[in-house]
Amino acid sequence: MLTVGLTGGIGSGKSAASRLFEQLGVAVIDADQVARDVVAPGEPALDAIQAEFGDAALDVSGQLNRRWLRQQVFDYPEKRTWLEALLHPLIRQQILNWITSHQQEDYVILTSPLLLETDQHRLTQAIIVVDLPEDIQLQRSCERDGMTTAAAGKIIAAQMPRQQRVERADFILDNSGNLASLEAQVALLHQQLKSRAINKST
Ligand code: ADP
Repeated sequence: MLTVGLTGGIGSGKSAASRLFEQLGVAVIDADQVARDVVAPGEPALDAIQAEFGDAALDVSGQLNRRWLRQQVFDYPEKRTWLEALLHPLIRQQILNWITSHQQEDYVILTSPLLLETDQHRLTQAIIVVDLPEDIQLQRSCERDGMTTAAAGKIIAAQMPRQQRVERADFILDNSGNLASLEAQVALLHQQLKSRAINKST
């Protein structure tokens, strides 16, 4: 079975592309969702975060206060290191368990904004990058999240540069066009990945 990583910058269209693969019957796991699951109330990682950061890390309903925590790790880089050392192995293990339970598929997709920045890419045998020019990325991110251009620009500047990401790609989905264009590319890539998976297994 082939595990294919799918990544791209903020607002590049990772979720849109993932949904299109799912519509074709492909099993997709979203590392962002796993990252939320491992800190859900009752999970040991949430208790560890509370012990390290104090009660301010939780909101009134006992959920992780993500916005507050994001600011903390931004302000205190050593706290980011601590948090990543806690969460990344847990996230990786959950993904690995999911992959193991999908061995009967031709291929599966791991969608992650941090595929290339963490060791998550080591779980994959091929990488898809969703790519688009920065001005469109900026515009779509702002429209989706209600951010200012300046705020979105800061996030993009802090992420892996476009060129560097593209250089790591085995396959590129060009999401500069409309959703129909993306859908057509996904359909084509689906056929390629299926035949690659089948060739690999024979
Ligand atoms: P990501 O998951 O990479 O952050 P999304 O898939 O959420 O990005 O896409 C960002 C925003 O752009 C969403 O609002 C999405 O609906 C929109 N979008 C994605 N692809 C296209 C496209 N080809 N044309 C128009 N809007 C798009």
